[in-house]
Amino acid sequence: MAAQIINGFELAKEKRAQLAKEVEQLKREGIEPALAVILVGDHPASQSYVKAKQKACEEIGIRSVLLTFPNDISESFLLGQIARLNKDRSIHGILVQLPLPPQINELHVIEAIAPEKDVDGFHPLNVGRMMTGQQTFLPCTPYGILYMVQSLQVDIVGKHVVVVGRSNIVGKPVGQLFLREHATVTYCHSRTNDLEAITRQADILIVAVGKPKLITSSYVKEGAIVIDVGVNRLENGKLCGDVDFDDVKQVASYITPVPKGVGPMTITMLLHNTVQAAREQHK
Ligand code: NAP
Repeated sequence: MAAQIINGFELAKEKRAQLAKEVEQLKREGIEPALAVILVGDHPASQSYVKAKQKACEEIGIRSVLLTFPNDISESFLLGQIARLNKDRSIHGILVQLPLPPQINELHVIEAIAPEKDVDGFHPLNVGRMMTGQQTFLPCTPYGILYMVQSLQVDIVGKHVVVVGRSNIVGKPVGQLFLREHATVTYCHSRTNDLEAITRQADILIVAVGKPKLITSSYVKEGAIVIDVGVNRLENGKLCGDVDFDDVKQVASYITPVPKGVGPMTITMLLHNTVQAAREQHK
């Protein structure tokens, strides 16, 4: 039987409606949640991601402030802007769109954001809090993936989660979140021997690589849940995931599409973190 499709778009819509109510409540209490977004340069993909984030903020009543800077700004200039936003009490969340131009060290920038305004959940302090099971901002894509799987009402405890990809923004943290939920987690990456033998053991397979259709049905166990994080632009202009959707949907029990899968959940969790930041900062 073909897999059921996990509709990230619909899930995101429901969660955003809930968040809109929380924003209304905060406004009644005199708090207007606000997110500052910093965009450096004119990278087309970054521009469209930033636009989507701003639109999503506006739709649920979060004030978004966009700061755009040319590609050749210095690191110290950018750090100065972040320091200013850190002190601005009307701004609750700060997001710096990555990647940054080569003269700017991304780690310096991430570390410069006040941890209580780090709504991307990338600051090492927040990463450490996540790993040690403390309350913090969870990174948006991993959090969105966990939310999607939890929405299926399946038991995660004891399940074998295989994560393909070990980036700091997706692969590593998503494995940590499932470990917190008592799954058994295996990480795979470009140096993994016999990837297929490992992914075939997964009850829940999460793929975050950036290689179109890397995962075909032979990599997937019958009945597995498959989460495709990849976003790849094909030559014909269409978007495609890291999973061969038409092939894998014949063996999986649930599968996320691309687009309308993980992407909308990522932005939704950014909204969630911004609302949480506003509430925490006015306690
Ligand atoms: P990344 O930093 O480039 O990391 C890619 C990972 O894949 C690395 O760990 C790499 O291994 C591994 N890898 C590469 N080739 C492989 C292979 N043949 N077999 C197994 N593993 C392999 O990418 P990322 O930032 O995590 O993003 C991954 C994908 O997700 C991209 O398509 C990106 O656009 C997408 N994405 C989507 C969202 C969303 O919201 N939908 C959010 C973030 C990212 P090594 O570590 O050994 O190099």
